[in-house]
Amino acid sequence: MFYPYGFGNHWLLYIGAPLIIGIWAQIRVSGAFSKWGKVRASSNITGAECAREILQAAQIHDVDVVETNDFLGDHYDPTGKKLCLSSNVYNTPSVAALGVAAHETGHAIQHAKAYAPLKVRMAIVPVTMVASQMLPFVIFGGIFFHITGLITLGIYCYTILLAFQLITLPVEFDASRRAKIILQQMGIVQPGSEVAGVNKVLNAAALTYVAAFIAALGNLLWLLSMRDRRN
Ligand SMILES: [Zn+2]
Repeated sequence: MFYPYGFGNHWLLYIGAPLIIGIWAQIRVSGAFSKWGKVRASSNITGAECAREILQAAQIHDVDVVETNDFLGDHYDPTGKKLCLSSNVYNTPSVAALGVAAHETGHAIQHAKAYAPLKVRMAIVPVTMVASQMLPFVIFGGIFFHITGLITLGIYCYTILLAFQLITLPVEFDASRRAKIILQQMGIVQPGSEVAGVNKVLNAAALTYVAAFIAALGNLLWLLSMRDRRN
């Protein structure tokens, strides 16, 4: 069978398969979120209230909880010390909203406690951004114009992105672990179906980070296979 240059079996294995895993993980997150986003928690507090209560209990007083318009754009911004929650997390007293809000608050707690993987992650953000901005040009030049030096540069870029995705895993898993414990300890979610719902949402979200790591690994392996075939 004929494949255009660089798009053979290696491409299917290293790029195609991770892509499918990524799409599958996204579908699971959307599914968990849409199911548990409709279930009202008996504590009846919104994601924003939940985040503020947890911050208060953790004695964190310098983090703002703000609403963002991006769908699923929930994140903690360590530089601005802002906890950004998407509108349907910020304003909704659902099981899913509480899970997401508590997870993001988990990052604020990591920051306050100088959790080592978060510090490493923050430290490599600038170089990661440079690498990801360079990549399109590097890949284009390397693959389509067969410039070997650019392929080597691309390998460095993908190695940086892989390191970033790798250090993201403990940061994300730990934030979810903290969220699950705190939500129960503070009585914000009740044992039984509410706890199960939070677990479903957070575990599905964790899968997307595993998928992102696999994708980064696939990209690197693909480029390595390109270089080896040329040598
Ligand atoms: Zn997170």
